[in-house]
Amino acid sequence: KQEILRVTDLKKYFPIKSGVLQKTVGHIKAVDGISFSINKGETLGIVGESGCGKSTAGRTIIRLEEPTEGKILFKGKDISHMKEKELRKQVRREIQMIFQDPYASLNPRKTLGSTIVEPLNEYNLYGNQKQRLERVGELLETVGLDSSYSNRYPHEFSGGQRQRIGIARTLALDPEVIIADEAVSALDVSIQAQVINLMQRLQEEFELTYMFISHDLSVVRHISDKVAVMYLGKIMEIADKNSLYEEPMHPYTQALLSAVPVPKKHGATQRERITLKGDIPNPANPPKGCVFCTRCPAAMDICREVQPILKTKKENHSVACHLFE
Ligand code: SF4
Ligand code: MG
Repeated sequence: KQEILRVTDLKKYFPIKSGVLQKTVGHIKAVDGISFSINKGETLGIVGESGCGKSTAGRTIIRLEEPTEGKILFKGKDISHMKEKELRKQVRREIQMIFQDPYASLNPRKTLGSTIVEPLNEYNLYGNQKQRLERVGELLETVGLDSSYSNRYPHEFSGGQRQRIGIARTLALDPEVIIADEAVSALDVSIQAQVINLMQRLQEEFELTYMFISHDLSVVRHISDKVAVMYLGKIMEIADKNSLYEEPMHPYTQALLSAVPVPKKHGATQRERITLKGDIPNPANPPKGCVFCTRCPAAMDICREVQPILKTKKENHSVACHLFE
């Protein structure tokens, strides 16, 4: 399979300003040196609790933010510090993002048709206005809605329908990569499954590559090929889905998975629940050594001194933890 996205030691720090002069007094290390790659047509799931940096990672990779350090290669092209004009020419169409609340990005005073046609107008695609509106009708059908919905307004639709509309708008520009940030998290479980199934169908049909960001390990398991677990801006563990879910190595991954009810069809037994003590530390002042050491049930002396490095331990399975040194 062909690699489409490669991220190397990516960092995104936000300055903390203070006082009347707004001097920089520190940094929030939202993303602190993550590396991974995704092949075309595959899905990388990114899991972690809120505040772990997964959304910032997505926003930086799509270049809504400029990285503080590190590299983002999209189809071999370095887009890390590309200027907006070049991004619009070379990248924006091909990497799209869908968010948790599609309603927020739909104009309540505009019909669906006039909203979805906007990107087509902006990039001057698909012929004249009439042809573009036909294209919008087709897009609505592609996501399982009726083309006549073009003439209706966002408030007329349910949460699940709005997420389909959001996906239709994303597809309008024929993207290659879609970054979905908590895309189904606000929906009821049965609707979540429908939207995930739709995303999987579209992935096959259009050979889409997904980066699927979520705090929900069950949803991520369903849709991903590979999964990365993030904590305090870093990747703790990254592996093929089955390897990660069936043989988690990192104590943090084990704790997260112990809280997920195991469905009978996986034939596994429920793990004993591991409760983590304390809260996630302040990302402006992360612990020395392993960033997980303040909460890790297996922490050793070395963990409070030396930062473990993400290393490959099994085929397609890497972990950052001194237990495996
Ligand atoms: Fe726990 Fe140490 Fe491993 Fe960090 S390096 S996860 S503190 S055992
Ligand atoms: Mg988030």
